[in-house]
Amino acid sequence: MVKYSVVIGCEVHVQLLTKTKAFCSCENRFGGIPNTRVCPVCLGLPGALPVVNRAMVEYAIKAGLALNCKVASVTKFDRKNYMYPDLPKGYQISQYDIPICYEGYLDIESDGSTRRVRIRRLHMEEDAGKNIHLEDDSGLSYVDFNRCGTPLLEIVSEPDITSPEEAVSYVQGLKEIMLYLEISDCNMEEGSLRCDANINLHIEEGGEVFETPIAEVKNMNSFKAMKNALHYEVERQLKEWREHRYTLKDFGKITRGYDDRTGKTILQRSKEEESDYRYFPEPDLKPILIPEELIREIRQSIGELPREKRKRLISEYGITEKDAKILSSSVALSAYFERAAKGYREPRKIANWVITELGGFLNSEGISIEECNLPPVYIRKLVELIDGGKISGKIAKDVFAEMTRTNSNPEEIVRRKGLSQITDREELQRVVKGVVEGNPKSVADFKGGKDHAFKFLMGQIMKVTRGRANPRIARDILKEMLEDD
Ligand SMILES: [Zn+2]
Repeated sequence: MVKYSVVIGCEVHVQLLTKTKAFCSCENRFGGIPNTRVCPVCLGLPGALPVVNRAMVEYAIKAGLALNCKVASVTKFDRKNYMYPDLPKGYQISQYDIPICYEGYLDIESDGSTRRVRIRRLHMEEDAGKNIHLEDDSGLSYVDFNRCGTPLLEIVSEPDITSPEEAVSYVQGLKEIMLYLEISDCNMEEGSLRCDANINLHIEEGGEVFETPIAEVKNMNSFKAMKNALHYEVERQLKEWREHRYTLKDFGKITRGYDDRTGKTILQRSKEEESDYRYFPEPDLKPILIPEELIREIRQSIGELPREKRKRLISEYGITEKDAKILSSSVALSAYFERAAKGYREPRKIANWVITELGGFLNSEGISIEECNLPPVYIRKLVELIDGGKISGKIAKDVFAEMTRTNSNPEEIVRRKGLSQITDREELQRVVKGVVEGNPKSVADFKGGKDHAFKFLMGQIMKVTRGRANPRIARDILKEMLEDD
């Protein structure tokens, strides 16, 4: 048995949801007819001058603060030079030695405990275009420059991650925060969240520690792919160690692409060194000064992050972790829940109605919670009507449907439609008597020991009262009547 530990660091690229691109006024949006959202700046035509998008800088600060980073008081852009068909300028505007944010961390849950992953840096850069290789026999490739110049954040972690599962929860944690801050849609399939992972093994043998060559794994387009790719890499590196005993000294860093169809990673090239990029300060952009006041303002606008909110919802309202996770996924949804539940003695029930019934309604209508104008207090009143024995859970669903249709108060609906539960013993006795007299065969069946006849009679009572009979009282009366006879 080889004794080893897994060491992973992640580089995550997040596309920002700014209205325009990073350095020009072209619209920043996914897709579209190829090469329609381009201009001399993002096409890198000679003489065109870039202008920094202020929203990109503010989003970067926001993300950095949410990830507990320090914010540089002065930052600058640099050119990263490389040649690729989807990069018409021949360089990418990025940040090299002075990233806008640095030295942060993200706490993640791993096997029931909290682990801290340090964040080395967070910087701004522009995306490249997209090569499109036709999948026919023509052998032709095209380039779409619409994506060229899209603002990106690159978030680089320290190698603090110790398993593929932890890597997934780290990236999920980043995604949750970006979505909460509303600075990216984090759609992995469309490439607005992309993760590369650097992975190797530290192998203990004879009192020494050997490091296997670091593999940078690319093309992981989903969390599932990420988990599979990294597990594959662990096994591959173990096998390579057993067979060849290659170490980091022999190979340094290599790049491997993940193939979703085979579940394997494939050697792409040996990794470029930083010196290959010939970084130098971008001469067309001045350094950016970031005033303390702006940082303070942005910090205040962030508010409670999803993980903290989740913990608070659980302790304050006693709801389940699963419910807290759903509710904290959106600021508007958790605010809705809190307005409905505040001060109510059984917030769990309200959580349940918000998630199941209201969630189902929003889904079926295809609208978001922000677009829903049903007052939160109506959900609470509805739950109060059930808890107070005024209506049954089943009737409550009808009231809810009516409530969403007409946007009216549940108490008023119950009153107007005469839906309140019948709890009056005398009234129920009359109903039960009628049902018993009208169904002599079922009564006889029951007395002959057939239990299902009792259910049938209860059904009849509910039918006569249109579901309004209090089931507990009605059942007692029916039992008494059948046994008395
Ligand atoms: Zn442009």
